[in-house]
Amino acid sequence: MGRKIFIIVCLAIAVVVVAAMALGDPITNRAGETTPAPATLTAYIPAPTPAMRAAATASARGSAGIGATAPAAASIAAATPTPAITATPAITATPAITATPAITETPAITETPAVTQTPATGATPQAVSITGRPLSGTVIGLDPGHQLKSNSETEPVAPGSSEMKKKVSSGTYGRFTGTKEHEVNLNVGLHLRDMLKDAGATVIMTRETAGVNISNAERAILFNDKLVDLGVRLHCNGSADASVTGAFMLIPKSNPRLSDCKLAAGLILESYGAHTGIGIEKGITVRGDQTGFNWCERPIVNIEMGHMTNESEDYKLSDKAFQRAMAEGIYQGIVRYFEAKR
Ligand SMILES: [Zn+2]
Repeated sequence: MGRKIFIIVCLAIAVVVVAAMALGDPITNRAGETTPAPATLTAYIPAPTPAMRAAATASARGSAGIGATAPAAASIAAATPTPAITATPAITATPAITATPAITETPAITETPAVTQTPATGATPQAVSITGRPLSGTVIGLDPGHQLKSNSETEPVAPGSSEMKKKVSSGTYGRFTGTKEHEVNLNVGLHLRDMLKDAGATVIMTRETAGVNISNAERAILFNDKLVDLGVRLHCNGSADASVTGAFMLIPKSNPRLSDCKLAAGLILESYGAHTGIGIEKGITVRGDQTGFNWCERPIVNIEMGHMTNESEDYKLSDKAFQRAMAEGIYQGIVRYFEAKR
């Protein structure tokens, strides 16, 4: 009996030692790659905040899940459980991330968007409560699309390409509220930044104010320089048809980590739809014409969070409280992605 207890104690000590050795330094990404310093675009890197410093010290404590286990990838056509979204937000509740990931090894990712299940709409999103540090050791890039003033100067659409595109386009705007897309993208990005930091991630922001001038290629190069484990570009869409609604995902046509792009796109879009009630039927679209993708060598996705040309979605996307819910949905999808990659 005493011998068994001795063996159990030895095993426990070994587990603790191995776990301590496995924990990464916050400035090293999940692949063990260390950020070179100085980077070429350090001017855009936010100064360390108390949350970032806390993340550094807390990494020694280890990380914990957010109370939900992401199931293994399942068919995009498989039935997806309706997310548990209650009418009354439970501030302290553990987020109910129970949906099945909507991506497969052979997903219908084509120029014709895949069709996925539409989540229930009309419910009040359940507030996200961050427990533990599920993103400890990760480096995540956020690019709130556009900026206060567009930049009509041009740059190659891809490294070595002779095709030139505008450095930064103006983006769309709310036809009913007048809200500018760059404002929505930034508001969501700042909420998301704070959530990711609270969860232990190192967050690389391409911009934290409207009045910047950073080209799409420069944004992608920043993510390369910082070796982000995942880059998320935040955008809203516009359509000539005011009846068009819904969120969808863009992924690069070519990327060194294309399977990671697909996995992240599916999980983030599904969580976003489940949490906000915005339709996600349009699925994932592959794009080879985006400067912000073509220059990026890291896993990267672009979420189009809804249509500002539709009256209902314009009012939602322009609403400050709803913008927080949008960030929460994206956050949940990012956590699921890194759980799936673990
Ligand atoms: Zn945009």
